Amino acid sequence: MSCAKHSYPDKRAAISARKIVLRTRGRHSRPMDLRPYFCEECRAWHLTKQLSLPAFLQVS
Ligand SMILES: [Zn+2]
Repeated sequence: MSCAKHSYPDKRAAISARKIVLRTRGRHSRPMDLRPYFCEECRAWHLTKQLSLPAFLQVS
């Protein structure tokens, strides 16, 4: 079963998505918290934070 996160086919796609997110969120974003990583579960790339987080993930 794959996880519910938005996935990217490769690292480059994840990185470009990251740039778009940072550009969109501007000063509200914390770039260090938004890293691409490879997910073994669904064999795809995710970002450590999503553009719109589920409520239960919004810790701060
Ligand atoms: Zn995954």
